[in-house]
Amino acid sequence: MNIVHLSAECYPVAKIGGLADVVGALPKYQNNKTITSQVIMPFYDNKFTQENTFKTIYSSTLTLGSIVLDFSVLKLKNKPLDFDIFFIDVPDLLFKDYVYSSDDTDRFIAFQIAALDWMLTWKKNPDIIHCHDHHTGLIPFMLQESFKYEAFRKIPNILTIHNAQYQGWFSHDKVSLIPSFDFNNVGLLDWGSSINPLAAAIKCAWRVTTVSPTYMEELKTSANGLEYLLNDESKKCSGILNGIDLGVWNPETDNYIISKYNTKTVQSGKNANKKYLCDTFKLDFNKPLFAFIGRLVDQKGSDLFPEAFKESLLKNKASVLLLGSGNHLVEQQLETLKKDHIGTYNAYIGYDEKLSHIIYAGADFILMPSRVEPCGLNQMYALKYGTVPIVRSIGGLKDTVIDISKHKGFGICHSDTSITDIVTSIDRGVELYRDQATFKKIRRQIMAIDHSWHASAQDYIKLYKSIN
Ligand code: ADP
Repeated sequence: MNIVHLSAECYPVAKIGGLADVVGALPKYQNNKTITSQVIMPFYDNKFTQENTFKTIYSSTLTLGSIVLDFSVLKLKNKPLDFDIFFIDVPDLLFKDYVYSSDDTDRFIAFQIAALDWMLTWKKNPDIIHCHDHHTGLIPFMLQESFKYEAFRKIPNILTIHNAQYQGWFSHDKVSLIPSFDFNNVGLLDWGSSINPLAAAIKCAWRVTTVSPTYMEELKTSANGLEYLLNDESKKCSGILNGIDLGVWNPETDNYIISKYNTKTVQSGKNANKKYLCDTFKLDFNKPLFAFIGRLVDQKGSDLFPEAFKESLLKNKASVLLLGSGNHLVEQQLETLKKDHIGTYNAYIGYDEKLSHIIYAGADFILMPSRVEPCGLNQMYALKYGTVPIVRSIGGLKDTVIDISKHKGFGICHSDTSITDIVTSIDRGVELYRDQATFKKIRRQIMAIDHSWHASAQDYIKLYKSIN
């Protein structure tokens, strides 16, 4: 079985968030003697493309409305990844030093057309086309409707929704960018009077998955306008929990962290990483360290952090370290907070992959008060690194974290995204940390939880087989 994943992000090539981690891991775990799983993604101007070498395997032109653009398909010459990855190079549109920007409509339509045009030249059609998020959401429509892709009508295709908040809306004025189709069917592209690539994919894909079972259920009542559609299409929808890539996220082998460790050496290992963080960010080693890593957007509840941290830090029982970027006002507030809480609070505003690994290893608790969380990978990384997750029970967080008050519980759960919930949960964390015997037992317990991709990758294969 030949599976083709199409995505805007893939770790380690280009990463903004969890989408990259998933697309960079899933093919590895799907590849075996009978399955070939590969990725097609845009060719960006970034560190990865500058540091690696590529060869051109196909060149042509694509038509985007009235414009004709050159494009090439590139393959890695050196082979730093465990699966085949192909890059669509549209120099005028995609080769930029960013992944997302305001011109995404044209960029990602060009990407999707180029990818399908190239596939038309293959000797054999893929057995499954697996699209990820709205950036590849027009593909199921084009496979079904565009005249030029008639040869692809029977290819089973899947959409995975990593985040339904973002849908890629654009105006009907741009409909001519999509390769021609029977205009009687233009309604398939439409949702709420604009072209909605995510909605079009939900309508046209053979199957739709989300990245956790609970998120799939939640979307039926809250999906940024797509609730009715998801209810209507519910027969082809299911949730498959993401896994984590143990080749990248494993404290025993992680070259980013200061001291590697396993369940036996967790105490000394975590201490060494915590000491590095406390020295680097001038934090009190003796206090429990609460950390946040992520995009500073409302979805993550990060707008509440300045106030919530202030309230918690005034109690003088905890240290807080934050790594993230996003909303400028929140960034400023988090910077300003530093001067009043030297020794117990610090923040690195920006993106830093290495630092994120050290924080998972060195922090005592990870905070995730998300308003929406399709799956959430941070809590699963935290568990693997023996760091206790503090989460709002929603989406994938609800599927992966059990509160310490419950049977076999190991995390701290709260029901709302509010300042009170964050502060109260930090207080509960401080209490747990005081009881070092229980705290250490929980650390060892959570490191042993298996969230590797093995099971979930098989769930996807089962789904592919059911439609192939
Ligand atoms: P989302 O995709 O909504 O951003 P996920 O929890 O699915 O959230 O995935 C977030 C991923 O991005 C994790 O690998 C996390 O460590 C990483 N990440 C987010 N922000 C940063 C940052 N500022 N620096 C380094 N890694 C980050």
